[in-house]
Amino acid sequence: MSQEQTADGIRLSILGMRCAGCVSAVEGALAGVAGVNEVTVNFADHSALVKGTADPEQLKLAVKESGFDAAIMEGFEDPAEQEQQEHQRYQQLMQKAKVAGGFGAFLMLIDMLGWMPHMGSPAGQWFWPIVAVITLGIMAYSGDHFYKGAYKSLLLKQANMDTLIALGTGSAWIYSCIVIDYQAMLPTLAAHAYFEAAVVILAFINLGTGLETLARGRTSSAIRQLIGLQPRTARVIRDGEELDIAIEHVGLGETLRVRPGEKIAVDGVLIEGHSSVDESMLTGESLPIEKTVGMQVVAGTMNQTGSFLFTATRIGRDTALAQIINSVRQAQSSKPEIARLADKISAVFVPAVVGLSVFTFLVWIIFGPEPSLGYAFVTSMTVLVIACPCALGLATPISVMVAVGRAAQSGILIRKGEALQTAGKISCLVLDKTGTITEGKPTVAAVSALADLSEDQVLQLAASIESGSEHPLAAAILAAAEQKQLPLSKVTQFAASAGHGVSANIDEQALLFGNTALMAEHKIATDGYNEQLEQFARLGQTPMLLAVNQRIVGIIAVSDPIKKDSAAAVQHLQHLGIRLIMVTGDNKITANAIAKQAGISEVRAQVLPQDKAVVVKELQQQGEIVGMVGDGINDAPALAQANVGFAIGTGTDVAIESADVVILQGSLLKVPEAIALSKATVINIKQNLFGAFIYNSLSIPIAAGLLYPVFGVLLNPMIAGAAMAMSSVTVVTNANRLRWTKLDDTSNR
Ligand code: ADP
Ligand code: MG
Repeated sequence: MSQEQTADGIRLSILGMRCAGCVSAVEGALAGVAGVNEVTVNFADHSALVKGTADPEQLKLAVKESGFDAAIMEGFEDPAEQEQQEHQRYQQLMQKAKVAGGFGAFLMLIDMLGWMPHMGSPAGQWFWPIVAVITLGIMAYSGDHFYKGAYKSLLLKQANMDTLIALGTGSAWIYSCIVIDYQAMLPTLAAHAYFEAAVVILAFINLGTGLETLARGRTSSAIRQLIGLQPRTARVIRDGEELDIAIEHVGLGETLRVRPGEKIAVDGVLIEGHSSVDESMLTGESLPIEKTVGMQVVAGTMNQTGSFLFTATRIGRDTALAQIINSVRQAQSSKPEIARLADKISAVFVPAVVGLSVFTFLVWIIFGPEPSLGYAFVTSMTVLVIACPCALGLATPISVMVAVGRAAQSGILIRKGEALQTAGKISCLVLDKTGTITEGKPTVAAVSALADLSEDQVLQLAASIESGSEHPLAAAILAAAEQKQLPLSKVTQFAASAGHGVSANIDEQALLFGNTALMAEHKIATDGYNEQLEQFARLGQTPMLLAVNQRIVGIIAVSDPIKKDSAAAVQHLQHLGIRLIMVTGDNKITANAIAKQAGISEVRAQVLPQDKAVVVKELQQQGEIVGMVGDGINDAPALAQANVGFAIGTGTDVAIESADVVILQGSLLKVPEAIALSKATVINIKQNLFGAFIYNSLSIPIAAGLLYPVFGVLLNPMIAGAAMAMSSVTVVTNANRLRWTKLDDTSNR
């Protein structure tokens, strides 16, 4: 159990983080726990991801000590329950906003109507103290979470958003009380109370947080949908009896029945019956997939009209669905470089704002016009209220979260947040041939016997050697032999030579099967067969030679047609101005023929699997930002070397470690989609950061009263409260726009 947690990291739900300033406080606290290697705190969904060997309880304790609260997140939380909690929180905040806003509006109304008694008057004698007491009560009700938060962070000698709000509204109340007590001693103009400001600021900030909670809920809709795909029960067959049991009780190797219209409960292999299955929710592939005996079925996908039995092969956390959910979560809380910067800025922001506020106060006291105390107070309070760096801290994580979810919905699994930032900048894309541009399911197209053997004998020998190989070409040869019902011979001393072929002994005969390079390696001349080999290759087929005891006896040509949408994807990518290069271990002529069909002009052929990474590296040295698209098995080093590695999956294999992005449905068209999403996300983050930055850099000077000497304008502290509340709502709303980005549209590129 704890081992597993180490691999995936421990996820904590953090309670009480109200501002980006809190992020670094929590990160710091968690990083200090023994055994922690890596910490990312996500302000967007209030979670923390901790990697290492730390004890979960210790982590919780550390978070508590830093003034927040934490809970370990385990397995699948119920999305409905979470939604309900969020809704409750929203209603609570709205209630607080209404109470504070109502009283504030009442005070402003009677002021407007001129009914407000003068402070010195007999009516004022009792009116103002009562207002002061009611205000205090409302502050306690509507703002308790801010004051508590501020107090906690004070104990830790820290400052956060709560500190600013508590200072701003608290000082408004205290100042107003002083005004009513000592109004006689103050100049008439300064004798103005700010009770309504205190409550209206609280109203706006509660309203803002409430709206933000609503919008945040939407940002995680993608992951909720994924969790929602998981059925709760399954129908197993035990001792010939069919039982409906909870999903947690399904064991490995059990037989499950799936009836028409039912969701598949766990991953497995079909053993009886057939049907078509809608996998669109996981892979984005809209057409239902025909499933017959021996094929894989995946948890969370929807059976159509047929009925079948299958054996459970992956359950619980191992199913593709669980891994997709896990991977989306990890990516959602991983931070691209740009986010770390924003976090650093917002961590020093709060103390800076307090400093600015004090500075503003002093400047007005010293240089301000009469009543300078009144002006000094209003301006410094306004600075405190308006300058919270919330929007700044939210800007990046919220966009990343929405984008990663959006991608998952169309079958693109982004495994690292960094990839989102880089994919849009790719200048050069290296594409593997087999399985990436082509179907990856080669079939034997021709067998020619060159010596005294028959064609079937050639195929039989080749298949016998290939029985030890896992290469897709081997699968093609074996399938052809099986179709002809050729019995395989026993082989000894099997060896595979990467990118070249295979060798083995059958009955004391030394056999070789592979390309001309393999023959050259064994000093077998192939010049006499060049014409025949080229004939196959020009058709885009891969010819392989069979040699028995150093003598060439046959050629088998295998064809692997390009995928139906590869050419369209190539066109999209060329539209984006990306340089495309196909790499393959295959021979030049075959490679060129396939590249031509796909519309790619640059080809690197006869590249050994381990050299694909070298090709990527060379391109990087030329200054290219390189994306690599491969099938993730023999292309792993190249995928890892590339700036962004795209693994083309077949179905739902998500566990492709070396890739930054996994394309669940094998279509190359998803690559330009991922690039489009990356571009849209980076633009969205920049809009957010720009908005947040402009907001703070404009609002602070105005709040401090910089416009006063020239235009005679001061910012009303209540407007400041509204502006500050709206700044984060705007950021979250803007990020939500990413959910609707069109990815498959080329018209605007
Ligand atoms: P790709 O780059 O298309 O994935 P590889 O690098 O795996 O191709 O293989 C390159 C070439 O080596 C193949 O086109 C084939 O000629 C030869 N080869 C590799 N493996 C085998 C095998 N198991 N049997 C026969 N030929 C093979
Ligand atoms: Mg390959």
